[in-house]
Amino acid sequence: MLFDWGDTLFHAPHAPAVIVAAARARGVTVSDDDARRMWDELWDAGKTPEELAKGRDLSPQAHRDVWTALFARADRVAPGVSHALYERVMDPASWVPFADTRPTLEALRRRGVKMGVVSNVPRDLRPVFALHGMADLVDAFTHSFEVGAEKPDPAIFRAACRALGVAPAETLMVGDHPEADGGAAKAGLRVYILPAEMDGDVRGLGRVVELVEGSL
Ligand SMILES: [Mg+2]
Repeated sequence: MLFDWGDTLFHAPHAPAVIVAAARARGVTVSDDDARRMWDELWDAGKTPEELAKGRDLSPQAHRDVWTALFARADRVAPGVSHALYERVMDPASWVPFADTRPTLEALRRRGVKMGVVSNVPRDLRPVFALHGMADLVDAFTHSFEVGAEKPDPAIFRAACRALGVAPAETLMVGDHPEADGGAAKAGLRVYILPAEMDGDVRGLGRVVELVEGSL
């Protein structure tokens, strides 16, 4: 089984708070609700095909350039918010697992499922999993910046299957983005896209265990 990382296993927990604090530091008051709306707009914009096509996850520099340009929209509210967002929200080390991430990976591990992470990301995610004591739950990491290809390019899914030692036809890709993660289908994998709706901090990953058990 392959998992996407961002918004599938981990999430950025504090982006609206970063906006509020960065604006306040420049004498601008932003309400929590407005900050949440701003962040949701920026994050949704970051998932459009146009943004995905900019190669932002092929190198750390590209990542900084593309995301900072997008976040600059927030500088209309208070100059400097874009910088704060990039430095404090886009660092993978600041992301945290969903409440059901560890229980799901542990349940799959008990069932003997090989698990890999395949991510459009400019940095190694192993230390991030280690930070949360979950490095042992992932058998292989496949990062776009190392492969030289980004999702939805089938090449990165093929590389992830090779790293895991499992044939694409026997691999399920689990992600949150219909286009990016859905690209796995072109590489011959099956795909499960998580619903956008969430129950608080619970991502809904338990469905994947049900799929493995054949009870869904
Ligand atoms: Mg994602």
